[in-house]
Amino acid sequence: MADIRIQNLRKEFGSFVAVQDSSFVVHDGEFLALLGPSGCGKTTTLRMIAGLELPTSGNIYLDGEDVTFNRASARDIAFVFQLFALYPHMNVRKNIGFPLLSQGMRKAEIKQRVEETARLLQIGHILNKSVSGLAGGDRQRVALGRAIVRRPKCFLMDEPLGTLDAEFREVMVHELRELHNRIHATTVYVTHDQHEAMAMADKIAVMNHGVIEQFGTPQEIYSKPATMYVADFIGSPPMNFMRFTSGLQMGSRSILLDGVDVLVPEIRQDLAEGELALGVRPEHIRFSDSSPLRGAVYGSEYLGTNQVVAVETSSGLIKARVPANRNFRIGETVGLEFNHSNLALFDCKSGRAVASALYSEAQHG
Ligand code: ATP
Repeated sequence: MADIRIQNLRKEFGSFVAVQDSSFVVHDGEFLALLGPSGCGKTTTLRMIAGLELPTSGNIYLDGEDVTFNRASARDIAFVFQLFALYPHMNVRKNIGFPLLSQGMRKAEIKQRVEETARLLQIGHILNKSVSGLAGGDRQRVALGRAIVRRPKCFLMDEPLGTLDAEFREVMVHELRELHNRIHATTVYVTHDQHEAMAMADKIAVMNHGVIEQFGTPQEIYSKPATMYVADFIGSPPMNFMRFTSGLQMGSRSILLDGVDVLVPEIRQDLAEGELALGVRPEHIRFSDSSPLRGAVYGSEYLGTNQVVAVETSSGLIKARVPANRNFRIGETVGLEFNHSNLALFDCKSGRAVASALYSEAQHG
C-alpha cells in the first residue's frame, strides 16, 4: 500500500475552475472521504489522482513518486465507480479474476487469489453464479472484488453505493469499513452523503466550489468546523447561526444577543467590527425556564430517542435536540441555554471560524 500526496492541484475547464489549488496527504492505510455537494470538484479530484484527467497545475505523488504525468495504467490504482460495469456473460469467478487474466497470471494463482478475495468479501457461495441475476449489493461486492484482487497500491471509489437503496447502502457502509479494517488499503472515497463519510472515513475533506474548506477527522469537522459552510453542511439538523454585530475585545467572556448576555469561550483577539455569527449545534441547547434568552415553539419533530424542537427567536429559527419525554405546544414560550464550551463563532464576511473562540475551557482553562 502507499500514501498519496496532493500538492497545489488545480483543474480548469476553459475559464471554469473545477478544482482550486488543493493540497492534502492520505497516509498509508488511511480512508479519506472527499465530501461535498454535486459539482464541487470531488470526481475531478479523484480522476486526476487516477490519471484519467490531467491537472492544469500541481502535482500528485504516490508513495513518494511523482505520478502527475503517468498514464492511469501505470499508477497501480484501482478505481471503483458508481455504475459498476461487470461482464454480463461471465460468472462471478471470471469477473473477479479478469484483471489477473489480462495481466497473464497463471490459472492456479488466479484461482487462489479469487477465492481469497471472495472469502474476504464473504461471497464465496456465489462464485459460480451468473452476475446478471445478482442483486445490487452483491454486484457491488463483485465489483469490489475485481478491484481488490489486483492488490493495487490504493483504491479510488466514486459514489460506489449511489445506486443502492437505503437499506443496502447502510449494510454496505458497514461492510466497506470492515473491509478497510481488514486490508488497510489507502482509499479515497467520493460521496455527497455526510453519513457515509462520517461512518467510514478516517479523514474527511469537505469541498465547496472546487476548494477544500476543511480537512480533518470526522470529530474535528463536526465539533470544530472551520467555516460556516462546513458547520452547515455537516450535522442533521445543521448548526444554528445567530448573527450579531461585533464589538468584542480580547478577553471577553460574553456576547450580547437580543439584549441578553450569553457566556462564550474566552475571545482571544479583538473582534471590533463587522457581523459575527454565534454557532451552536442543536444538541448543545437546553431548555431552561430561568434563561432570559427566550423564544416561541414553532414546531417539533419526534425522533424516538429524542426530538428536534424549532424555536422562533429574534435571531431567527433555532433548532434544539432535546429529550423526547416532554410535549411542547406550538407558540409556547421557552428559555434557551447553551453549552458554552461547545459554541463556535464565525466572521460572517469571510465565513471563517474565529478559531480562538473555539477553545473549550478544558483546553486553555
Ligand atoms: P458530482 O457528484 O455531480 O459528479 P462532483 O463534486 O464530483 O459532482 P465534478 O464532477 O468534479 O463534481 O465537477 C466539478 C465541476 O466541473 C462541475 O461544474 C462540472 O460541470 C465541471 N466539469 C467536470 N468535467 C468537465 C469537463 N470535462 N468539461 C467541462 N466541465 C467539466
